[in-house]
Amino acid sequence: MNNPAKDIERLLQYGQDHFLIEEEDVIPTRNALLDLFQLDEPYSGTLTEEEKQHLDQPTAILEPLLDYAVEKGLIPDNTTTQRDLFDARIMGLLMPRQSEWTRKFYQILKEGDSEKATDAFYHMSQASNYIRMDRIAKNKYWKAETDFGDIEITINLSKPEKDPKEIAAAEKAPKSAYPKCPLCVENVGYAGRTNHPARQNHRVVPITLAEEPWYFQYSPYVYYNEHCILFQKEHIPMHVCRKTFVRLLDFLDQFPHYFIGSNTDLPIVGGSILSHEHYQGGRHSFPMEVAPITRKYTHTDYPQVQIGTVHWPLSVIRLRSKDREALTEAANHILQAWRGYSDPTVDIYAYTDKDGKKQIHNTITPIARMKETGEYELDITLRNNRTTEEYPDGLFHPHPHLYHIKKENIGLIEVMGLAILPGRLDTELKDIQNILTGKVTWETLSEDQQKALEKHKHWIEELIKTDGTSLEPSKAQALIQKEVGVKFAQVLEDAGVYKQDQKGQQAFQNFLEGIGFQAC
Ligand SMILES: [Zn+2]
Repeated sequence: MNNPAKDIERLLQYGQDHFLIEEEDVIPTRNALLDLFQLDEPYSGTLTEEEKQHLDQPTAILEPLLDYAVEKGLIPDNTTTQRDLFDARIMGLLMPRQSEWTRKFYQILKEGDSEKATDAFYHMSQASNYIRMDRIAKNKYWKAETDFGDIEITINLSKPEKDPKEIAAAEKAPKSAYPKCPLCVENVGYAGRTNHPARQNHRVVPITLAEEPWYFQYSPYVYYNEHCILFQKEHIPMHVCRKTFVRLLDFLDQFPHYFIGSNTDLPIVGGSILSHEHYQGGRHSFPMEVAPITRKYTHTDYPQVQIGTVHWPLSVIRLRSKDREALTEAANHILQAWRGYSDPTVDIYAYTDKDGKKQIHNTITPIARMKETGEYELDITLRNNRTTEEYPDGLFHPHPHLYHIKKENIGLIEVMGLAILPGRLDTELKDIQNILTGKVTWETLSEDQQKALEKHKHWIEELIKTDGTSLEPSKAQALIQKEVGVKFAQVLEDAGVYKQDQKGQQAFQNFLEGIGFQAC
């Protein structure tokens, strides 16, 4: 039996446990919640010790409240979309005002501990249910050994399945230009719509990068630990330039325990949002970070900077120095040179002509981190987004024979060696596992299963040829996980402008030597 007034008391307890509200806030917050649920008075009893117990996530309290809201007609449809819109509204009533949060964050920062400040912010972003940790926990994760070291694989299962009715409702909903994009600061406190998430439980922190106003927030989808997003106050397009390096290093000066990187400013080789300048950071050491240097270089203009190319499927130049200014200039030297660089022998063209208009193709994915030695490190990943007749989706993009694993853009996170694979793969890989253990055969699969596995058919045949169909389940699973890693390394190699063969690596060296770097 639902007792919403009692659940409200549990939520108030939860809010205090997680520092969303303080004791003084309990009465007005209770009244706001009573109002939302159209209740005249609070629960008259007291919570038992068990009911008061500390919960890491609010889901167990929110679910019965959402059921009640459905019953009372406070939620128009009992769909995930509508429930998500309503639970953000509930949690929104427990949130500090934006200015209060900003003050609190800066107070911690002023005490000289940037780790404590980000810890508090990350904790609040989860406690508020803005990051839905119960869903994130559903993602699959493993490491796979490849020629480039262990790379990380995740299968994204955190997005709830939507039923066709919900999808239709979202499509039918009037298109709105507010907020302009999912990053814009106008999302803070927004109630959402069927086609835009509710963000009453979302808070940001204003910060300064390169003397400009920016905001710091966490990603609601946390693909890795403490996955944060920095976005410019103005909704202006992505643009990688000298200032990008200044901003990245400014961020490291303020939050040296985080890495930070930018997607490119061109489609195909960029992230999903090109319309709003933003970076992503966090507290995670990616496989790329531990990849070794293959060849060292020097440059007479930047004697303070250590330079090297990295053993990585994409083409990466690593710069390291304690001297911020020298590092910025060296990085910018590479960026400016690369923007205009062509090498027809390896299919790299900086520009092409389309309907008489010059199209630019060269850009970079830069990543910055602070080393324990106090040195700044910049990884500059060379990218090119040219399409050809043979590869209309992109020449330096996963090629069609790998689409069964990944066909989306290779953005910043993947460049660093963390594959974010679509949820469909979870079921498909399980079905493949069952084929390899002999539990099922292609013929005994349902029509739907066959349809879903059709794109993997060639791969399945190869796996059967090498490993047969009588593997132990754990062996079959380990094999598939390893092979997905191998495929993902190939995906990254496709995105690399200089290939791993001798010709490619020589061309990489030619580029660097051509712009004044000397190989050691
Ligand atoms: Zn925006």
